[in-house]
Amino acid sequence: MPQRLVMIAGGGIGGLAMALTLDQIGVPCVVFEAVPELRPLGVGINLQPNAVRELYDLGIGASDLDKVGLPAKEWALVGLNGNDIYSEPRSQLAGYNWPQYAVHRGHFHILLHEKLRERIGQGAVRLGHRVTGYEHEPDGGVTALVEHADGSTSRETGAILIGADGIHSAVRARMHPDQPPIHWGGAIMWRGTTQARPIRTGSSFVGLGTHRHRMVVYPISHADPRTGLATINWIAEVTVDNSEGWKGRGWFEPVQVDRFIHHFEDWTYDWLDAPWLLRHADIVYENPMIDRDPVPTWQDGSVLLLGDAAHAMYPTGSNGGSQAIVDARVLGACMVEHGVTRAALAAFDRRLCGPISELILRNRSAGPFGLLNIVDDRCGGEFDDIDDVIPPEERAEFMAGYKAAAGFAVERLNSAAPTIAPGARADLTVGA
Ligand SMILES: Cc1cc2nc3c(=O)[nH]c(=O)nc-3n(C[C@H](O)[C@H](O)[C@H](O)COP(=O)(O)OP(=O)(O)OC[C@H]3O[C@@H](n4cnc5c(N)ncnc54)[C@H](O)[C@@H]3O)c2cc1C
Repeated sequence: MPQRLVMIAGGGIGGLAMALTLDQIGVPCVVFEAVPELRPLGVGINLQPNAVRELYDLGIGASDLDKVGLPAKEWALVGLNGNDIYSEPRSQLAGYNWPQYAVHRGHFHILLHEKLRERIGQGAVRLGHRVTGYEHEPDGGVTALVEHADGSTSRETGAILIGADGIHSAVRARMHPDQPPIHWGGAIMWRGTTQARPIRTGSSFVGLGTHRHRMVVYPISHADPRTGLATINWIAEVTVDNSEGWKGRGWFEPVQVDRFIHHFEDWTYDWLDAPWLLRHADIVYENPMIDRDPVPTWQDGSVLLLGDAAHAMYPTGSNGGSQAIVDARVLGACMVEHGVTRAALAAFDRRLCGPISELILRNRSAGPFGLLNIVDDRCGGEFDDIDDVIPPEERAEFMAGYKAAAGFAVERLNSAAPTIAPGARADLTVGA
């Protein structure tokens, strides 16, 4: 029944979450993934409680996630002088019914792939299949143009094409040929992992410094009980003049620590030795902080964008991966309601394109790290008691505003009905 088949371009976090969701609601699908082999690439990402709830509903529970990460206990901002600016509990400690997980992006990605293979079989993800564009069919279906790893090409036809092919999406480029180039605001992130002892609660996310010169540090594995060491994810970031555009080699390239350690050489505190952490890295990537200008729609007939292809955003809110998972679940819910139809895609677009596009712009202006900007503006980052710089009520109000916009306000999430009711199936005859 090729006309009912959903084709997914991109087997990243969003594409695989989509395939798992379609399998759950009884919709046949195939994933075309450009790379010939899936490897556990990347470093740390955060899965917010709204995404963890969806993973649990997909049958991916704590015992799975504890193999690729650990529940977060605290989120904190610290000034350049080492003094606390703000901290709050995370996960159930903050009243959520679900934890937030800090995970290794690559290991989590492989976990999703294993689950999909167990459930649909080896053929679910076709590796070495790069989608280069698409054509609409007169009967309402769509043809994906596919380039294979050996250079040959093919035309694959289905009812729907979902572009989950990341920030450099070919599906989006075909849908919005006049979109502006990637947007880079001047921040360069060097990301890495180091085996070290976790700080504070043992599972704290710490943002340190000023908005133009900062580090983020958090563990992405449980500590080894024998050594006390965990995999510590870190991001070292500086903002530079971007008037000549990005001149680096790529968007996510392995680099040597000598390239940037001078920016952090004197960042030593009694609770963190940043230069030691950077020097002892297992792997380091250079990654300019980039996003894309929002587009007015993510739908073109039977074609839809999701994940980074739809809304690549600055990682300041730690919600790019989470939003890709939530997208997949919302689209699944729309298909339960409307069948595998254009109406389902339109319902998804109506629900998410506007608010998530706003979030892209909100993250540009520092997201929850905006508190560091305020501290910087008011006292240049030097203070003894943060209450003298920003009263506690103002700090709490700032953070609540961000969380409501990003969809992880506690009460709203806890009281929301499941995105997809247990046992719900899409009716494959609707719109056939
Ligand atoms: C290799 C890699 C490493 C990353 N590391 C980190 C990290 O350390 N920290 C972090 O915060 N974020 C990282 N990200 C980004 C993060 O995974 C995403 O922001 C987020 O998970 C949203 O997921 P996504 O599925 O929309 O996009 P992605 O995870 O980027 O997945 C897109 C997938 O589509 C595939 N693809 C691309 N073009 C095509 C095409 N034309 N046809 C078919 N397939 C295609 C890609 O190979 C990839 O598997 C990384 C992404 C990648 C691809």
